[in-house]
Amino acid sequence: MLLYLRYFIPIVAMLLTTGLAIAAPPAQTEQCPTLDANNPEQRASLMDHVCFLSAPPGEPAHQANTPEALSADTHWKAANGHDLVFSHTDAVYWVRLNVRNSGDTGQLWYLKLNYPLLDEVTFWQTGNDGTAAIATGDQYPFMSRGIDYRYFLLPVTLGANETRTITIRIRSSGALNVPLSLETPEATIAQSNHLTLVHGLFYGALLVFAAFNLLLFFSSGTVYYFYNAFYMASLGLFLFAMGGFANQYFWPDSAGFANTSIPMLMSVSSLAMTLFGRSFLEIQPGSRSDRVLRGLALTSLGLFVMAFILPYNKSIVLSTTVALIIIASLFLIGLVRWRQGYLPAKWYVMAWSGMLAGALIYALAAFGYLADFLAREIFMQVAVGAQVILLNYAMVQRWRLLNQKLLDVEQNARTNLELKVHERTAQLRNTMRELERANRQLATLSLNDALTGLHNRRHLDNLLPELCAESRRSGQPLTIALLDADHFKAVNDDWGHDFGDQCLQHIADILRRHVKRPRDVAIRFGGEEFAILLPGTGADGARRLCEQILEDLASSRMVTTDGAYLSLTMSAGTATLIPGEDERELFRRADEALYRAKAAGRNRAEQSEPAPSWSTPHGE
Ligand code: GH3
Ligand code: MG
Ligand code: MG
Repeated sequence: MLLYLRYFIPIVAMLLTTGLAIAAPPAQTEQCPTLDANNPEQRASLMDHVCFLSAPPGEPAHQANTPEALSADTHWKAANGHDLVFSHTDAVYWVRLNVRNSGDTGQLWYLKLNYPLLDEVTFWQTGNDGTAAIATGDQYPFMSRGIDYRYFLLPVTLGANETRTITIRIRSSGALNVPLSLETPEATIAQSNHLTLVHGLFYGALLVFAAFNLLLFFSSGTVYYFYNAFYMASLGLFLFAMGGFANQYFWPDSAGFANTSIPMLMSVSSLAMTLFGRSFLEIQPGSRSDRVLRGLALTSLGLFVMAFILPYNKSIVLSTTVALIIIASLFLIGLVRWRQGYLPAKWYVMAWSGMLAGALIYALAAFGYLADFLAREIFMQVAVGAQVILLNYAMVQRWRLLNQKLLDVEQNARTNLELKVHERTAQLRNTMRELERANRQLATLSLNDALTGLHNRRHLDNLLPELCAESRRSGQPLTIALLDADHFKAVNDDWGHDFGDQCLQHIADILRRHVKRPRDVAIRFGGEEFAILLPGTGADGARRLCEQILEDLASSRMVTTDGAYLSLTMSAGTATLIPGEDERELFRRADEALYRAKAAGRNRAEQSEPAPSWSTPHGE
């Protein structure tokens, strides 16, 4: 992925730094000293011995197909220790190196061109009768390299004291790096082994991550796992192609595809990272970010198709530009989502910083500080590796947050439920309290007389048996007094029923005034008939109380409807409970006494005989 930048930045940067990277500044009398292959120090400073020639279209060297075809006065430039890094040009590059074996025996070295993506590379050695030792490059089947290796290797066998001139002709439509080294076969094998391990680990890890995410997708159905797998697989494939492995293993015979595959895979990776970013960052469908990402995804798809149609040097610039725009857009959108409070975006942004690290690496490369393809590849793999690990960590964080959210929702639901139950219970309790109050009210209503507010007949019926039982148990006297208004029918007849009601209320007031003890009860149990229950009061006390009531009533005066004064009277009969008697008998005796009082002329109290000999607080 980071290799996107390798084309783009060099295009810009090389315009600024051509001199710096290629030859700064080349001496006019060029010297390309012969390299002693036996001398490790000289091998290490190979670029001090290399001369090169850049031949733009139109120059004779551009047309030349063999070293012999170059004119004798060709002006070679010394590399002066600098790596050869060229931007996209149509020029043909010639590179020349003189090598000598200062040893006593013949020996084999490898001249290695550490850059896998070059369209045409042709090697010549003097002593090979002018025929090319190797003619190879991306545009040839992989077999043409002679040695099955992703870099270009030229075996250089030198007899004792033999000197050879090696000439390389390079033409490529991509950015053009010519990192050269001369190595012993042992060193080449050892380095190849180490690199195989590093690359194996890197691509193996990517593959495992991709497969793991794919499995997660299949088991959970969560689509961003699929996009992550897609992203890592396409990223891995793209890097594989950029590293020259795809040419070696995937399409060794389809030479033309080597170039096409790079912008094609870059577009696929662009599409994958757009889809993954959109899904991971939970971009609101229809939002501005969503529209931008959809547009970029569609553009990536378009570029995928264009990779097969446009020439390589156009499609690579287009797909690199779009890839850079996508990286930048995703970084910005990630920041926006982070600021919106979407926590997984933090990890995403951190992971995406790997892309910025990659940009830095390629900026360094473009400015000539990192022309070593191998070092760049390793740096890039570290950056991408870190990014992949961070992205996967971001996914774990995202999962953890989602889980936490679910737990919170569950907790909230439970708390809400508890609150509701609590609320309902309180409501129920209130309702029950109200119901109880209503019941009490109802009970009071049903035990009270509406006109006078005294207790009613039902209360009398309830209470009298209880009081009788209590009196029998405690031995305390119980007296009942029955009072009946005298000639009340006439009151009604003379002054109307309403006035009669007023008289009844007046009587009730007088009863209330006299019945003061907490346990004494005044009752209106019939039309103009009243009863007084006097627990703990004997016959004499009851008679006295009745007389006081009768007196009070007789002495009070009502004003009739026609303005006259009226004095009401009542008659009373009392009876005190005697042993073995029940409430009906007690009531009957009181009624009988009342009857006697009426018969004896009214406005008097009679008591039922035989009166028991209890002493009471009302009497004595
Ligand atoms: P006595 O002295 O024999 O008791 O004569 P009385 O007229 O009071 O006797 P009676 O029992 O014949 O009449 C009772 C009258 O009381 C009949 C009715 O007009 C009157 N009365 C009963 N209940 C009410 C009531 O709620 N309001 C009014 N205004 N009058 C009532
Ligand atoms: Mg009556
Ligand atoms: Mg009466």
